[in-house]
Amino acid sequence: MSAIVTDNPFDLSDTIVANATASGRGALAVIRVSGRRAHDIARNAVERWPNLPRIATLSRVHGADGVLLDESIVIRYDAPASFTGEDAVEIITHGGLLVPVTITGALIARGARLARAGEFTRRALLNGKLDLLQAEAVGDLISATSRAAQQVALTQLDGGLSRRILALRDELVGLEALIAYDIDFPEEDDGPIAPARIIAATDRVVDALTRLAATVHTGELVREGALVVLAGAPNVGKSSLFNALLGERRAIVTDVPGTTRDAIEAVIDTPRLPLRLVDTAGMREAVDPVERLGVEVSTSYIARAAVVLACGDDEQSLRDIQRALAERTERDDTPVVMVRTKSDLLRPGETIGGGYEIGERPLVAVSAETGEGLTELIDVAASLAAHGAETATPDAPILTNERHAFAIRAALDEVRAFRDRWTNDDVPAPVAAVHLRAAVGALEDLIGVVDVEDVLDEVFRRFCVGK
Ligand code: GDP
Repeated sequence: MSAIVTDNPFDLSDTIVANATASGRGALAVIRVSGRRAHDIARNAVERWPNLPRIATLSRVHGADGVLLDESIVIRYDAPASFTGEDAVEIITHGGLLVPVTITGALIARGARLARAGEFTRRALLNGKLDLLQAEAVGDLISATSRAAQQVALTQLDGGLSRRILALRDELVGLEALIAYDIDFPEEDDGPIAPARIIAATDRVVDALTRLAATVHTGELVREGALVVLAGAPNVGKSSLFNALLGERRAIVTDVPGTTRDAIEAVIDTPRLPLRLVDTAGMREAVDPVERLGVEVSTSYIARAAVVLACGDDEQSLRDIQRALAERTERDDTPVVMVRTKSDLLRPGETIGGGYEIGERPLVAVSAETGEGLTELIDVAASLAAHGAETATPDAPILTNERHAFAIRAALDEVRAFRDRWTNDDVPAPVAAVHLRAAVGALEDLIGVVDVEDVLDEVFRRFCVGK
């Protein structure tokens, strides 16, 4: 390891402390201490020090002047078995505005330094407890605002994405080895490596990288939510449906400023992805070609929608919205769900589509009054919005941000460049192989961990046997 620079703001020789919980009124707070002197500093501040690691011990915490600050639980962690990989202590104090602050102060007075943002996770990374993707996942998990985002972050934290990237990287390193062998032993008895074998291996990697790159779309959906727009003639019950759908499932309500200020947008959290439901009720004044059909839809929203809920409360209104949407969705094939509203008013024997043929489109009957069909409508909309989007699983992780997408695309470009050069045979093999090294580098940057052992292996693989 390189020498520690003393003016480094993240100096690893410092013992750091922070309130790990949100500040403000609350039952409990967790003060976290980590670093070489974590045990000494905390032991000095508490009456009863835990004899063993990972055992919750009831204790009392004192200020540097000996004043009692709180009755707290103390847990000690011995390196490397801690989140940071260092000696660490967690003090579970009472919450509120004062107790956690005074206890943090008492630990600073005894020699700890206030941690910088993300510094505990940064240390975990430097100590090999997490890789860069997992460290990012910690941040994603904390900022998750939907269940889908939570699940994706957990998969990433569990190392799902890291394992996938490492497997691809290993395949590339294997490919490099094949080429090195080909360069070093062109006259081998077994003959050179068949070019087709190299091409096949390259194509496998290109395929896998392409599939992975495509998942960034899912990552975006999970983060941003899918736009679901209510469309239909005035008075068919769109606003009532909007409110009923949100009901208790409402997560966030935003008045979106600017051009969309008349629309109301709210998020419905579904397990697969968040749905951003938009009621364009306030846009009745908008001049829109479909208005001649007496149908109220917003051009810009429909154009951007992941799913359109086409509402009608009888045969005629369903027919109108169907026809109006057909004109615009012919081209962009946005999924449409036909929604028969006010189902509580259906007469016995009346069909929900009013006898109207709605073709292949799903038709759901709903009532804002009784709640009928609301769950089904959310399920149908969510599965249509998620169509083509993968669900993140440990075996099939997804990319969750632009940094990932950038690295994967860079790797893909390099592997493709290698393939072209190798196929065209226009440069010597070692020159073509430079692209593979660049691809490996892009994947390593993504994980943030370069295994020295692997680099050495790679270097020596290029040596001839016996040298
Ligand atoms: P919008 O103009 O399409 O947004 O329609 P509204 O939501 O304002 O509803 C128009 C009228 O239909 C109102 O009088 C609502 O009370 C009524 N309405 C809406 N949904 C239902 C429903 O599910 N059942 C019944 N019986 N009436 C409804």
